[in-house]
Amino acid sequence: MRVIMPNYYKKFVCKAERCRDNCCKTDWRIELDEDTYKKYQGVSGELGEKLRLAVGSDGDGYYIVHPCPMLRSDGLCEAYLSLGNEGLGYICRMHPRFINSYSDREELGVGLACEEAARLIMTEPMSLETDEMIGGEVSFKDDHAEAILKIRNKIIDFVMASDDIGKDISGILKYTQSIEAEVLGGQYKTAFEKIILPYDRHEEKSCENIAEVIEKLFDMEILDNSWTEILRGAKEKIKEPNGDFDEELKRIFCYFIYRYFAEYSLDGQMLSAVKLAAVSFIILRELFKGRSFDERINLAHMYSKEIEYSEENLENLCFDFFVDKVFEVEEIIKMI
Ligand code: SF4
Repeated sequence: MRVIMPNYYKKFVCKAERCRDNCCKTDWRIELDEDTYKKYQGVSGELGEKLRLAVGSDGDGYYIVHPCPMLRSDGLCEAYLSLGNEGLGYICRMHPRFINSYSDREELGVGLACEEAARLIMTEPMSLETDEMIGGEVSFKDDHAEAILKIRNKIIDFVMASDDIGKDISGILKYTQSIEAEVLGGQYKTAFEKIILPYDRHEEKSCENIAEVIEKLFDMEILDNSWTEILRGAKEKIKEPNGDFDEELKRIFCYFIYRYFAEYSLDGQMLSAVKLAAVSFIILRELFKGRSFDERINLAHMYSKEIEYSEENLENLCFDFFVDKVFEVEEIIKMI
């Protein structure tokens, strides 16, 4: 079994008490696995009582109540301090890390919804590293998944070498559109042989399209009210892109491709994965204008929390990719 990860994966360290938006304070449903639940039942004394108070249950299983009583006022987790890493439930232990399993490999990453992960994603040019997992579960190569991962990696390499990210993302949209049906039907030759070319429409960018997309975000589930203000501010100052922050934005584009391209493709939605990366690029470029690096990190993590980490919002957005004119490939290209 191979383990693949971006070069920055091993550098991730939780900021804990220095984090401005501690994930334990976020109003997410945090599932608690059965093993940890049982472990908590066996902890004695005041700590055990507190741990049990931190757990709720319903028809879907166990979850950590909100706000989590184990989170101390200094931002540290009492369960971790008392019981160590093994005392945490799977999600608490893993977040913001994620694992995707394909073919004979596991792919690891850190999610943009965490501000420290966002900092790494935006700072480090993406390259993928491989470790061999000793004693890992042996699995067999899946040719279809292998082909999709090869195409995914070709896209990441193309983006990382880009010196005109707008034209190159447009080119990736056109490339994906042209190969999707064949690849999903098990024909990979064209996709492997075809060179991804930059695509330039030589036309004015469509600020109306960008405004329409931002407008859609207002109608989605909102986690934090300040997100509405941020969107309103961005909508009021939409203008032609000037290339600021292209390097950060292309790393974020790669994050979305790395995380979702294979998963969506195996689900028959290859083009949606590229649209998600492209639309995230467009929205974040608007949010980033005139902002400091620290503010841009905060905005990227907020976007991820509000859109990427909201199951409902992500599902709605991906549905809109199929039905809304503004998300047709040519219309997205007008915004890039
Ligand atoms: S959001 Fe990230 S840095 Fe902050 S507490 Fe959670 S894992 Fe740590």
